[in-house]
Amino acid sequence: GTGLLRAQFATELEELAAPWQAEEPPAPRLLVLNEPLAEELGLDPEWLRTEAGVGLLTGNRLPPDAKPVAQAYAGHQFGGFARLGDGRALLLGELTGRDGRLHDLHLKGSGRTPFARGGDGRAAVGPMLREYVVSEAMHALGIPTTRSLAVVATGRHVQRETALPGAVLARVAGSHLRVGTFQLVRATRDDALLRRLADHAIARHHPAAAGDPEPYVALYRSVVAAQADLVARWMLVGFVHGVMNTDNMTISGETIDYGPCAFLGAFDPATVFSSIDHGGRYSYGNQPLAAEWNLARFGEALLPLLHPDLERAVAIATEVLGEFRPAYGAAWSAGMRAKLGLARADAPAADGLVDELLPLLQASHVDHTAFWRRLGSAARGESEPVRGMFLDLAAIDDWLARWRAHHPDADAMAAVNPHYVPANHLVEEALAAAVADDLAPLGRLLDAVTRPFTPRPGLERYAEPAPDDFGRYQTFCGT
Ligand code: AMP
Ligand code: MG
Ligand code: MG
Repeated sequence: GTGLLRAQFATELEELAAPWQAEEPPAPRLLVLNEPLAEELGLDPEWLRTEAGVGLLTGNRLPPDAKPVAQAYAGHQFGGFARLGDGRALLLGELTGRDGRLHDLHLKGSGRTPFARGGDGRAAVGPMLREYVVSEAMHALGIPTTRSLAVVATGRHVQRETALPGAVLARVAGSHLRVGTFQLVRATRDDALLRRLADHAIARHHPAAAGDPEPYVALYRSVVAAQADLVARWMLVGFVHGVMNTDNMTISGETIDYGPCAFLGAFDPATVFSSIDHGGRYSYGNQPLAAEWNLARFGEALLPLLHPDLERAVAIATEVLGEFRPAYGAAWSAGMRAKLGLARADAPAADGLVDELLPLLQASHVDHTAFWRRLGSAARGESEPVRGMFLDLAAIDDWLARWRAHHPDADAMAAVNPHYVPANHLVEEALAAAVADDLAPLGRLLDAVTRPFTPRPGLERYAEPAPDDFGRYQTFCGT
């Protein structure tokens, strides 16, 4: 058997789970399979390549115990509340990993569900491969994230602006519980269900909270801490999520929803890639604020569990939410100090160096990933590549001299500053080739970004900034 079991979510939170079936693809073709992840989940990669295996990966051949469901949730989308749910996704069931933990096996693009509203329930090959590449890159960067197990082309076309080849992504996550899941239950005023949902989340993701005298306060605190750490990690690698709606913020602290995300090229806090983010709500620099806003909504949803007296509950929620900024600040500062190669004892100096560095990066439109890598070379005595990125040489020379006075550790820098990230021009190139049936560029890109800290011969161009003619980059949701 595959070890796939009916998801706990479907049993314990039946009210939020609509039993549903994946639609059958006319001509399924496995485009990419994550063999190491399959093995971590106790699945045989050879078997997954067979007709039966592809049947599992598209939700069409499931063991009898697996009862797939579409999950209900709500969400604030760009600030406006909406009742949502998996419109084109299905929770197939759960697998116990080699780590002994439960993992959701979930599909995206598997057909319309009761939550599909106006959508067609489908997904295109390009965006599903994009999620595959970027989520696996994030994992390799050490950033908590949903994972990608496989992308299967369906053999059916999906109508977008043009007709595009369709695909189903098989995704793996600790769970798909979202802030929006709690918001939906809170909106129904069913406090017993809210408590069951919170107990489920505690057992699954924040077990230490169960032993706390105030388990739901501890749950809130624990999610605030996980998200502060997560968003700091995004910021440190230059990741722009692009659609930080509350339905796209997990309770587990995993990054979820790789629709319009992209990595920074030139460093600029105002960077927005998503075609629909006109106000810059989810710009690179706004991400910590957006996360804090979402966590405030999570606190609101939890209020009935925090204290029987509403005023007391609000005071408790406010206090816990107040932990976000210091937690985020500490994670960011520690991460930046590591990127600079400085020792713990140099933390105050590192904060000052960072404050002076960021405006220099912005003023010279310096490529984020290339800067940190070249700074690593400067720690080894080779300063020209990094100097060459700046317009104001006197300013960067002054900064470099003060940084060097703290004896940066080049090896420590190389362990935290990635050599390869899925830069936008490389992702586009790989996806365009894949859609035209050439999977080789995708394979090379995956090779680079899944071992991001190890420079390798033959992959030089995967470490270069985007060419000047690449121009402004735009990304899209719901494709
Ligand atoms: P997102 O912006 O990707 O988080 O999606 C928001 C909501 O829209 C979720 O409930 C999705 O399931 C739903 N959705 C996105 N694209 C489609 C589609 N093509 N068909 C049906 N539902 C969709
Ligand atoms: Mg989403
Ligand atoms: Mg999405």
